[in-house]
Amino acid sequence: MPDKPHRLETDLIHAGELRPRIEGAVTLPIFQTSTYEADGVSDRYLRLSNTPNHQALHQKLAALEGGEAALVTASGMAAIATTLLACLDAGDHLLAQDCLYGGTHGLITRDMVRLGLNFDFIQGDDPDSWRRCLKPNTRILYVESITNPLMQVADLEALARFAREHGLISVIDNTFPTPVNFRPLKWGFDLSVHSGTKYLNGHSDIVAGAVIGSHGHIRKIHHTANHLGGSLDPHAAFLLHRGIKTLALRVEAQNRGALELAEFLQTRPGVAKVNYPGLKDHPDHQRASRLFKGFGGMLSFELHGGTEAAERFLKALRLPVNAPSLGGVESLITRPATSSHAELSREERRRAGISEGLIRLSVGLEAPLDLIRDLDSALEAV
Ligand SMILES: *Cc1c(COP(=O)(O)O)cnc(C)c1O
Repeated sequence: MPDKPHRLETDLIHAGELRPRIEGAVTLPIFQTSTYEADGVSDRYLRLSNTPNHQALHQKLAALEGGEAALVTASGMAAIATTLLACLDAGDHLLAQDCLYGGTHGLITRDMVRLGLNFDFIQGDDPDSWRRCLKPNTRILYVESITNPLMQVADLEALARFAREHGLISVIDNTFPTPVNFRPLKWGFDLSVHSGTKYLNGHSDIVAGAVIGSHGHIRKIHHTANHLGGSLDPHAAFLLHRGIKTLALRVEAQNRGALELAEFLQTRPGVAKVNYPGLKDHPDHQRASRLFKGFGGMLSFELHGGTEAAERFLKALRLPVNAPSLGGVESLITRPATSSHAELSREERRRAGISEGLIRLSVGLEAPLDLIRDLDSALEAV
């Protein structure tokens, strides 16, 4: 489709758009139909994710991350589960980073184990742990570009190289940086998965997921997706498509806002620790600067006074909404121990370094100054 490669901002708007435009419609309409008249070539059916709404999204997402192909799914977890189940056979083993999104952690440690798929957790920064855990039946290396909720950045380049050297399929959850800040396929990863619920859609009004990679991998995953059935419904596809068009503007503003807020929090005496890779004293700052265009809109922090202080702080806030999820236009704030990481046992959280009082903030598009004032007065109230 594209003659010359475009910049990401242009691809957000134009890549994958149907040509000719349907009835001249500038915005791709919603194809609210489950089935399509036979054309003698291939069957079109909503569960098969081959409607115009799906196909446009597939091309757009592939262009954004420099992949050959993509597949959208009914949620981020549908993308992750379908990808792993498509790429693993009974008895296979996978290496997974030790601090994963809660749902992914549960999928790997509970559901997949029941199916005879085994795993070992590795530390993103410790190549010895990668080598030590590698087995003859290891098939997949699974990591996250920025870990949730501690905002660590693993040695992603070395991890992708390690996977390649050992014939593993490397899969990375790129939900936090989005293609605006990081394009994992360019750094050697095979597959990039997303919760489209978050930044890609950006408006906290749908759940969606995506996986991006080579034709060969995506064909296989698409096939499994057709059987598992987690396809994206046309209205959600329309909203995701609409949300993606403003991704660059939103993420760039969120990069700036999060850095301002992280720097502000660091100066407050009530704050014990701030986790944001954009801060110069963050242990992964150098690496993040090399890999990422921006440091993202997510940060976490701990208050002196632990869980009780955190609860008083959350109650005193006026602007950020105390709710799980992230990446929307409104700031969202949670305590991971009770939300994203509630599925983990207290002991599993402790081992992952997630304290019970840790607070995670998804910085929205409000004026950073207003957010700073709100955080400041809530800190006074603790
Ligand atoms: C939210 C999230 C998921 C799961 O996505 P859903 O759309 O809720 O299924 C996976 N990975 C990360 C990093 C997330 O933030």
